[in-house]
Amino acid sequence: MDLITSLSDLINRAHHIVFFGGAGVSTESGIPDFRSQNGLYSLKSKYGVPYEVMLSHSYFESNTATFFAFYRDLMINENAVPNSAHLFLAHLAEKKDVTIITQNIDGLHQMAGSRKVIELHGSIQRNHCVKCGKSFPLSAIIASHGIPFCDQCGGVIKPDVVLYEEPLSDVIITRALIALQAADLLIIAGTSLNVYPASSLINYFFGNNIVVINKDDIPINKPIKLKINGKIGEVFSRVESLIKP
Ligand code: NAD
Repeated sequence: MDLITSLSDLINRAHHIVFFGGAGVSTESGIPDFRSQNGLYSLKSKYGVPYEVMLSHSYFESNTATFFAFYRDLMINENAVPNSAHLFLAHLAEKKDVTIITQNIDGLHQMAGSRKVIELHGSIQRNHCVKCGKSFPLSAIIASHGIPFCDQCGGVIKPDVVLYEEPLSDVIITRALIALQAADLLIIAGTSLNVYPASSLINYFFGNNIVVINKDDIPINKPIKLKINGKIGEVFSRVESLIKP
């Protein structure tokens, strides 16, 4: 059996699927990841400070104006649209119980039509005033210049994105753990599994069927049923016609 047939077979036999994804799921939508050969971390920072540092809570607090210059420039990809991977998962959820646990912040799974999406690191689509809590859409960040301020109380508007040094939400972690423990198939894709604690969540899947789809080899200390080295959008495009109604 070839790899694509094996993957479709595992999906067809599964009842509760968890898809655990990362930045690699959106590279085919034109959003760069962090750790690929052409990822953001491979580029020299335009701001004189490594991008990894600029994505920390302490940098946000101490250099708020530069954080927003960087954030508007490189973290918001306003024109990105879902690719075949996002669309495949949304279609699959019409036939199976599919939960997406994503490290991505771009909102493309929801744009593709997926409803059960657990965003471990938040979303650029949501923003709030750090002083009064008022919510703001992405358009408010895009339309503002310099530091975006709340029109109600004058506080700084912060993206609901988990920066380095910030904890993950307990509610989100609990939802992810419940989904993983109920799953009989775990598909891990487009992630380097470098970001903790997000990557450690896969240890709470106790089933036998783990599939890994990634461009590069990734370290994983669990038995893998099927490994496909390839682009996730291309792989899912080939699997789609083999999924039973
Ligand atoms: P990462 O950059 O560390 O790793 C991406 C992995 O995906 C790499 O192993 C790469 O080989 C693989 N990959 C890239 N394109 C692929 C493709 N088309 N098909 C299959 N594999 C592909 O990303 P990460 O593990 O998600 O961790 C980085 C952090 O960066 C996350 O917390 C995430 O929030 C954030 N991030 C998000 C976005 C986004 O929302 N789109 C983009 C960049 C970074």
